[in-house]
Amino acid sequence: MKTNLVFSPRYKTPLSDFGFDKPFALDRGEMVLKRLSEDIGAPVPYLEPQPITDEQIRLVHTPEYLETLKNPKTWIDLFEFRDSEYFPERALRPLPTIIEDFKLKSGGTLRACEISLETGLAANLGGGYHHAFPDQGRGYCPINDIAIAIRHLQRIGKIKKAMIVDLDFHQGDGTAITFQNDDSVFTFSVHSEEGWPEIKQRSDLDIPIKEIEKEKYLEKTEAGLKLSLSKFAPDMVVYVGGSDPYEKDVLPGTSYFRLPLSVMKARDELVIDTFADRGISFASVFAGGYGPDVWEVHYLATRKLLERSGLSFGKTYSCC
Ligand SMILES: [Zn+2]
Repeated sequence: MKTNLVFSPRYKTPLSDFGFDKPFALDRGEMVLKRLSEDIGAPVPYLEPQPITDEQIRLVHTPEYLETLKNPKTWIDLFEFRDSEYFPERALRPLPTIIEDFKLKSGGTLRACEISLETGLAANLGGGYHHAFPDQGRGYCPINDIAIAIRHLQRIGKIKKAMIVDLDFHQGDGTAITFQNDDSVFTFSVHSEEGWPEIKQRSDLDIPIKEIEKEKYLEKTEAGLKLSLSKFAPDMVVYVGGSDPYEKDVLPGTSYFRLPLSVMKARDELVIDTFADRGISFASVFAGGYGPDVWEVHYLATRKLLERSGLSFGKTYSCC
Protein backbone atom coordinates (compact mmCIF):
# COMPACT_ATOMS: atom_id res chain seq x y z
CA MET A 1 0.00 0.00 0.00
CA LYS A 2 1.48 3.32 -1.06
CA THR A 3 0.68 6.19 1.25
CA ASN A 4 2.56 8.91 3.05
CA LEU A 5 0.26 9.09 6.08
CA VAL A 6 1.10 7.28 9.31
CA PHE A 7 -1.58 6.50 11.88
CA SER A 8 -2.98 3.77 14.09
CA PRO A 9 -6.41 3.38 15.71
CA ARG A 10 -4.35 2.62 18.83
CA TYR A 11 -3.23 6.28 18.92
CA LYS A 12 -6.37 6.94 20.96
CA THR A 13 -5.33 6.39 24.56
CA PRO A 14 -8.37 5.57 26.72
CA LEU A 15 -7.46 7.17 30.04
CA SER A 16 -10.18 5.17 31.80
CA ASP A 17 -8.07 2.04 31.09
CA PHE A 18 -5.48 3.52 33.43
CA GLY A 19 -7.97 4.38 36.17
CA PHE A 20 -8.58 8.04 35.31
CA ASP A 21 -12.03 9.48 35.53
CA LYS A 22 -11.68 11.48 32.31
CA PRO A 23 -13.77 11.43 29.14
CA PHE A 24 -12.32 10.20 25.88
CA ALA A 25 -10.46 12.95 24.11
CA LEU A 26 -11.40 13.34 20.47
CA ASP A 27 -8.71 11.79 18.29
CA ARG A 28 -7.60 14.39 15.77
CA GLY A 29 -6.04 11.82 13.45
CA GLU A 30 -9.25 9.83 13.26
CA MET A 31 -11.22 13.00 12.42
CA VAL A 32 -8.72 14.02 9.74
CA LEU A 33 -8.91 10.62 8.04
CA LYS A 34 -12.72 10.63 8.22
CA ARG A 35 -12.99 14.03 6.53
CA LEU A 36 -10.36 13.24 3.89
CA SER A 37 -12.23 10.02 3.10
CA GLU A 38 -15.45 12.01 2.66
CA ASP A 39 -13.64 14.34 0.26
CA ILE A 40 -12.33 11.58 -2.01
CA GLY A 41 -15.26 9.20 -1.53
CA ALA A 42 -13.07 6.30 -0.41
CA PRO A 43 -11.13 5.29 2.69
CA VAL A 44 -7.77 7.06 2.89
CA PRO A 45 -4.97 4.53 3.33
CA TYR A 46 -2.38 4.88 6.08
CA LEU A 47 0.60 2.94 7.39
CA GLU A 48 0.62 1.64 10.95
CA PRO A 49 3.91 2.32 12.75
CA GLN A 50 6.03 0.12 14.96
CA PRO A 51 6.75 1.38 18.47
CA ILE A 52 10.18 2.94 18.94
CA THR A 53 12.63 0.86 20.96
CA ASP A 54 14.17 1.57 24.36
CA GLU A 55 17.53 1.85 22.62
CA GLN A 56 16.17 4.63 20.38
CA ILE A 57 14.67 6.45 23.38
CA ARG A 58 18.09 6.36 25.06
CA LEU A 59 19.55 8.35 22.15
CA VAL A 60 17.87 11.37 23.75
CA HIS A 61 16.78 10.62 27.31
CA THR A 62 18.85 9.92 30.41
CA PRO A 63 18.60 6.50 32.13
CA GLU A 64 17.79 8.27 35.44
CA TYR A 65 14.77 10.01 33.93
CA LEU A 66 13.54 6.88 32.15
CA GLU A 67 13.65 5.04 35.47
CA THR A 68 11.19 7.60 36.96
CA LEU A 69 8.62 6.70 34.28
CA LYS A 70 8.08 3.42 36.12
CA ASN A 71 6.50 5.42 38.95
CA PRO A 72 2.77 6.32 38.55
CA LYS A 73 3.39 9.65 40.30
CA THR A 74 5.63 10.81 37.43
CA TRP A 75 2.73 10.35 35.03
CA ILE A 76 0.14 11.99 37.29
CA ASP A 77 2.39 15.06 37.54
CA LEU A 78 3.11 15.05 33.80
CA PHE A 79 -0.58 15.12 32.88
CA GLU A 80 -1.43 17.48 35.75
CA PHE A 81 -4.13 15.13 37.00
CA ARG A 82 -5.59 15.57 40.45
CA ASP A 83 -5.40 12.70 42.90
CA SER A 84 -9.22 12.85 43.05
CA GLU A 85 -9.35 11.90 39.34
CA TYR A 86 -7.21 8.77 39.73
CA PHE A 87 -8.72 5.44 40.77
CA PRO A 88 -5.96 2.83 40.41
CA GLU A 89 -8.32 0.07 41.61
CA ARG A 90 -10.43 0.60 38.45
CA ALA A 91 -7.44 0.45 36.10
CA LEU A 92 -7.23 -2.27 33.44
CA ARG A 93 -3.54 -1.47 32.87
CA PRO A 94 -0.91 -0.19 35.33
CA LEU A 95 -0.32 3.53 34.72
CA PRO A 96 3.39 3.28 33.77
CA THR A 97 2.45 1.02 30.80
CA ILE A 98 1.02 4.17 29.17
CA ILE A 99 4.58 4.63 27.88
CA GLU A 100 3.74 1.96 25.28
CA ASP A 101 1.18 4.33 23.71
CA PHE A 102 3.80 7.06 23.44
CA LYS A 103 6.32 4.61 21.97
CA LEU A 104 3.81 3.75 19.24
CA LYS A 105 3.02 7.38 18.41
CA SER A 106 6.73 8.22 18.49
CA GLY A 107 7.30 5.29 16.13
CA GLY A 108 4.81 7.07 13.87
CA THR A 109 7.01 10.16 13.82
CA LEU A 110 10.05 8.08 12.93
CA ARG A 111 8.09 6.25 10.20
CA ALA A 112 6.88 9.57 8.74
CA CYS A 113 10.49 10.83 8.67
CA GLU A 114 11.61 7.64 6.89
CA ILE A 115 8.82 7.97 4.31
CA SER A 116 9.70 11.62 3.74
CA LEU A 117 13.24 10.58 2.84
CA GLU A 118 11.83 8.16 0.25
CA THR A 119 8.97 10.22 -1.19
CA GLY A 120 9.49 13.86 -0.15
CA LEU A 121 6.42 14.51 1.99
CA ALA A 122 4.88 12.56 4.87
CA ALA A 123 2.76 13.10 7.97
CA ASN A 124 2.31 11.39 11.30
CA LEU A 125 -1.30 11.99 12.33
CA GLY A 126 -0.22 12.38 15.95
CA GLY A 127 3.01 12.86 17.90
CA GLY A 128 4.96 16.08 18.40
CA TYR A 129 6.06 15.88 22.05
CA HIS A 130 8.32 18.89 21.80
CA HIS A 131 8.34 19.82 25.51
CA ALA A 132 10.17 16.68 26.70
CA PHE A 133 13.70 17.46 27.92
CA PRO A 134 16.39 14.75 27.96
CA ASP A 135 16.10 14.51 31.75
CA GLN A 136 12.42 15.28 32.37
CA GLY A 137 8.95 15.05 30.87
CA ARG A 138 6.91 18.26 30.75
CA GLY A 139 3.70 19.70 29.34
CA TYR A 140 2.04 16.33 28.57
CA CYS A 141 5.20 15.19 26.74
CA PRO A 142 7.01 12.17 28.28
CA ILE A 143 9.47 11.45 25.46
CA ASN A 144 10.63 13.69 22.63
CA ASP A 145 9.62 11.79 19.48
CA ILE A 146 11.01 14.50 17.18
CA ALA A 147 14.48 14.45 18.73
CA ILE A 148 14.51 10.64 18.91
CA ALA A 149 13.61 10.26 15.23
CA ILE A 150 16.30 12.73 14.16
CA ARG A 151 19.02 11.18 16.34
CA HIS A 152 18.15 7.69 15.09
CA LEU A 153 18.25 8.70 11.42
CA GLN A 154 21.57 10.45 11.99
CA ARG A 155 23.01 7.44 13.76
CA ILE A 156 22.14 5.02 10.96
CA GLY A 157 23.49 7.49 8.38
CA LYS A 158 20.19 8.31 6.63
CA ILE A 159 20.58 12.05 7.30
CA LYS A 160 23.31 14.37 8.45
CA LYS A 161 21.45 17.63 9.06
CA ALA A 162 17.88 18.24 10.15
CA MET A 163 15.72 21.31 10.74
CA ILE A 164 12.79 21.55 13.13
CA VAL A 165 10.15 24.13 12.27
CA ASP A 166 7.97 24.49 15.36
CA LEU A 167 4.87 26.66 14.99
CA ASP A 168 2.97 25.32 17.98
CA PHE A 169 1.56 28.06 20.24
CA HIS A 170 4.10 27.02 22.89
CA GLN A 171 7.86 27.23 22.41
CA GLY A 172 9.51 23.94 21.37
CA ASP A 173 11.65 24.13 24.47
CA GLY A 174 12.45 20.41 24.81
CA THR A 175 13.77 20.10 21.27
CA ALA A 176 15.60 23.44 21.60
CA ILE A 177 17.48 22.30 24.71
CA THR A 178 18.19 18.83 23.30
CA PHE A 179 19.94 20.28 20.26
CA GLN A 180 21.34 23.46 21.84
CA ASN A 181 24.98 22.48 21.31
CA ASP A 182 24.43 20.40 18.20
CA ASP A 183 25.28 22.13 14.91
CA SER A 184 23.74 19.30 12.90
CA VAL A 185 20.18 20.23 13.92
CA PHE A 186 18.65 23.68 13.42
CA THR A 187 15.71 24.55 15.68
CA PHE A 188 13.29 27.29 14.66
CA SER A 189 10.33 28.19 16.86
CA VAL A 190 7.54 30.75 16.45
CA HIS A 191 5.49 30.94 19.65
CA SER A 192 3.56 33.09 22.08
CA GLU A 193 5.82 35.29 24.15
CA GLU A 194 3.31 35.43 27.02
CA GLY A 195 2.35 31.75 26.89
CA TRP A 196 3.77 28.77 28.80
CA PRO A 197 6.60 27.88 29.32
CA GLU A 198 7.47 30.92 31.37
CA ILE A 199 11.19 30.25 30.98
CA LYS A 200 11.98 29.79 27.30
CA GLN A 201 15.00 27.89 26.02
CA ARG A 202 17.27 29.11 23.23
CA SER A 203 16.47 27.76 19.76
CA ASP A 204 18.73 28.51 16.80
CA LEU A 205 16.02 30.95 15.76
CA ASP A 206 13.23 32.06 18.09
CA ILE A 207 10.42 34.35 17.04
CA PRO A 208 8.35 35.11 20.14
CA ILE A 209 5.11 36.88 19.25
CA LYS A 210 3.27 39.14 21.67
CA GLU A 211 -0.51 39.20 21.82
CA ILE A 212 -0.57 42.76 20.50
CA GLU A 213 1.37 41.77 17.38
CA LYS A 214 -0.52 38.60 16.49
CA GLU A 215 -1.67 40.16 13.19
CA LYS A 216 1.96 39.82 12.10
CA TYR A 217 2.01 36.05 12.75
CA LEU A 218 2.14 34.99 9.09
CA GLU A 219 4.56 37.71 8.06
CA LYS A 220 6.97 36.88 10.89
CA THR A 221 6.69 33.14 10.24
CA GLU A 222 7.51 33.64 6.56
CA ALA A 223 10.50 35.84 7.40
CA GLY A 224 11.70 33.24 9.91
CA LEU A 225 11.46 30.42 7.38
CA LYS A 226 13.51 32.41 4.87
CA LEU A 227 16.12 33.32 7.47
CA SER A 228 16.39 29.71 8.69
CA LEU A 229 16.92 28.41 5.17
CA SER A 230 19.52 31.11 4.47
CA LYS A 231 21.54 29.89 7.48
CA PHE A 232 21.10 26.12 7.21
CA ALA A 233 20.61 23.50 4.49
CA PRO A 234 18.82 20.47 6.02
CA ASP A 235 18.55 16.97 4.58
CA MET A 236 15.13 16.72 6.23
CA VAL A 237 12.70 18.96 8.09
CA VAL A 238 10.27 18.00 10.84
CA TYR A 239 7.30 20.34 11.00
CA VAL A 240 5.69 20.68 14.42
CA GLY A 241 2.36 22.07 13.24
CA GLY A 242 0.45 22.57 16.49
CA SER A 243 -3.16 23.70 16.08
CA ASP A 244 -3.25 25.52 19.42
CA PRO A 245 -2.78 29.04 17.97
CA TYR A 246 -6.25 28.48 16.37
CA GLU A 247 -9.12 30.57 17.77
CA LYS A 248 -11.15 27.42 18.55
CA ASP A 249 -8.44 25.89 20.75
CA VAL A 250 -9.94 25.51 24.24
CA LEU A 251 -6.80 25.45 26.43
CA PRO A 252 -7.14 28.59 28.58
CA GLY A 253 -3.41 29.37 28.29
CA THR A 254 -3.59 29.73 24.50
CA SER A 255 -5.97 32.71 24.50
CA TYR A 256 -3.22 35.19 23.50
CA PHE A 257 -3.46 34.34 19.81
CA ARG A 258 -6.94 33.23 18.68
CA LEU A 259 -5.96 33.05 15.02
CA PRO A 260 -8.72 32.35 12.45
CA LEU A 261 -8.77 29.19 10.37
CA SER A 262 -7.80 31.17 7.25
CA VAL A 263 -4.51 32.13 8.91
CA MET A 264 -3.86 28.58 10.13
CA LYS A 265 -4.49 27.27 6.60
CA ALA A 266 -2.22 29.89 5.04
CA ARG A 267 0.49 29.08 7.62
CA ASP A 268 0.51 25.38 6.87
CA GLU A 269 0.36 25.92 3.11
CA LEU A 270 3.28 28.32 3.34
CA VAL A 271 5.39 25.81 5.28
CA ILE A 272 4.56 22.84 3.06
CA ASP A 273 5.14 24.83 -0.14
CA THR A 274 8.42 26.27 1.16
CA PHE A 275 9.99 22.84 1.61
CA ALA A 276 8.22 21.03 -1.24
CA ASP A 277 9.34 23.73 -3.70
CA ARG A 278 12.95 23.18 -2.60
CA GLY A 279 12.70 19.38 -2.70
CA ILE A 280 13.60 19.06 1.02
CA SER A 281 12.22 15.93 2.73
CA PHE A 282 9.35 17.04 4.95
CA ALA A 283 7.61 15.17 7.77
CA SER A 284 4.89 16.75 9.89
CA VAL A 285 3.55 15.93 13.36
CA PHE A 286 0.46 17.26 15.16
CA ALA A 287 1.78 18.53 18.54
CA GLY A 288 -0.62 20.74 20.56
CA GLY A 289 -4.30 21.29 19.88
CA TYR A 290 -7.17 21.01 22.34
CA GLY A 291 -10.97 20.78 22.05
CA PRO A 292 -13.54 19.48 19.57
CA ASP A 293 -12.68 21.72 16.59
CA VAL A 294 -8.89 21.90 16.26
CA TRP A 295 -8.88 18.87 13.92
CA GLU A 296 -9.94 21.34 11.18
CA VAL A 297 -6.43 22.80 11.13
CA HIS A 298 -4.78 19.38 10.78
CA TYR A 299 -7.33 18.31 8.17
CA LEU A 300 -6.54 21.29 5.94
CA ALA A 301 -2.79 20.81 6.44
CA THR A 302 -2.93 17.08 5.67
CA ARG A 303 -5.08 17.72 2.62
CA LYS A 304 -2.56 20.26 1.37
CA LEU A 305 0.27 17.77 1.96
CA LEU A 306 -1.59 15.11 -0.04
CA GLU A 307 -2.32 17.61 -2.83
CA ARG A 308 1.38 18.48 -3.02
CA SER A 309 2.04 14.73 -3.20
CA GLY A 310 -0.11 14.53 -6.33
CA LEU A 311 -3.51 13.49 -4.96
CA SER A 312 -6.41 15.35 -6.51
CA PHE A 313 -9.40 16.38 -4.35
CA GLY A 314 -11.55 18.74 -6.39
CA LYS A 315 -12.98 21.74 -4.60
CA THR A 316 -15.13 20.21 -1.87
CA TYR A 317 -14.04 20.63 1.74
CA SER A 318 -15.53 18.66 4.61
CA CYS A 319 -15.42 21.61 6.92
CA CYS A 320 -15.01 25.37 7.10
ZN1 LIG B 1 1.23 23.74 22.34
